[in-house]
Amino acid sequence: MFSLDKLIRNNIKGLSPYSSARDEFSGEAKVFLDANENSLGSPLNKWYNRYPDPHQVKLKAAISQVKAVNTDRIFLGNGSDECIDLLYRCFCQPGKDNVIICPPTYGMYQVSAEINDVAIKKATLLDNYQLDLVHLENLVDENTKIIWLCSPNNPTGNCLNREDIEMVLNNFNGLVVVDEAYINFARQRSWVQELQEYPNLVVLQTFSKAWGLAGLRLGMAFASPEIVEVMDRVKPPYNINQVTQELALQALEEVGQVNDMIRLLVDMRDALAEVLVQLPNVEKVYPSDANFLLVKMKDARGIYNKLLEQGIVVRDRSNVKLCEDCLRITIGTEQENTTLVDALNNLN
Ligand SMILES: *Cc1c(COP(=O)(O)O)cnc(C)c1O
Repeated sequence: MFSLDKLIRNNIKGLSPYSSARDEFSGEAKVFLDANENSLGSPLNKWYNRYPDPHQVKLKAAISQVKAVNTDRIFLGNGSDECIDLLYRCFCQPGKDNVIICPPTYGMYQVSAEINDVAIKKATLLDNYQLDLVHLENLVDENTKIIWLCSPNNPTGNCLNREDIEMVLNNFNGLVVVDEAYINFARQRSWVQELQEYPNLVVLQTFSKAWGLAGLRLGMAFASPEIVEVMDRVKPPYNINQVTQELALQALEEVGQVNDMIRLLVDMRDALAEVLVQLPNVEKVYPSDANFLLVKMKDARGIYNKLLEQGIVVRDRSNVKLCEDCLRITIGTEQENTTLVDALNNLN
């Protein structure tokens, strides 16, 4: 049976969170003399002298509409990276607990574990970049708190099989985090609508990819209200700044524009893939459900360096297990993609 109580770190269980001035009073008032802000204003023509809403009420309401998820199931972080770190700090006892990752995958799960002194176990993906369920099951012990799944996966670009994720959700009594940073580019549907069914499910999404707002630093964790409550207790009170809250709210009114960009990027991805497979140095272009392509090359490292000389930066994954001789290439603008293809055509 799943018991959140058994997962929460002992020091977090009884934690009373910092109570900010804006926590204690959140209603309408005329005079705010409670938070030691600069009452004269700021050098900017905006009310940035005030602390932002620690609960992001307006922003969560807007996200709730767009995602069709209740506000009490939404946690917002300073990028998904903050959500990842907070999951360790809420649920993993340093020096005792462990988590499982499925490499090749996003690097922050491991870095954040190491920072938090949490042991990592690795269930390497199969050759087809799908989960090795047998290996996964064998790695689980009584101190395993989190299984990190990334779908669509970075850097491989594919979605994990839905039935496999379902299997993990049904059989693991810790948290199953499904990182959906690239879900808007995928054919598969999000796991966000399955939260009611799985009390151990945490879905991560971000404004950094499809929304085009990597610079704002805004990540979302969707989970049970109980999990969200624990993360809320541990987060820094003002983790989402005022500018980010205002601009993200504005962006959320432009869903149509974002969907247009997604469609365009997916079309350009598929077109670029078709061009790339025909190049003599390209051995394979992996199918992608994301806004990048994983491309197997003859001498990826050498090609990476030659591209660099021409001012073109791609991601060299050639020393990553199962990605030998692969470059990860983000879909650029039409012109950037053409520049890339021209450069690849003129390698000497
Ligand atoms: C890019 C990416 C993120 C986004 O992280 P942010 O901190 O929200 O910018 C999360 N997970 C994966 C797998 C990514 O590739």
